[in-house]
Amino acid sequence: MSIKRVWLDESENECISCSACEDICPEVFSVPDKMVVKSGVDYSKYEAEIMDAAENCPVEVIKYE
Ligand code: SF4
Repeated sequence: MSIKRVWLDESENECISCSACEDICPEVFSVPDKMVVKSGVDYSKYEAEIMDAAENCPVEVIKYE
């Protein structure tokens, strides 16, 4: 699998700004307020970290494809 897109999906829950995703992968995630996904990043280089961040997000709002 090669990750091409990463996004914040607040259709069910809201990001609680806990910064766990940024701690796991600061190359992709930044949490100035709510989480933002950095643009211009080759997400395929950080697949394990992105999956780890999505799994560890307490409100499950990190999506990728
Ligand atoms: S881990 Fe989830 S809830 Fe926490 S800052 Fe990241 S996206 Fe928001």
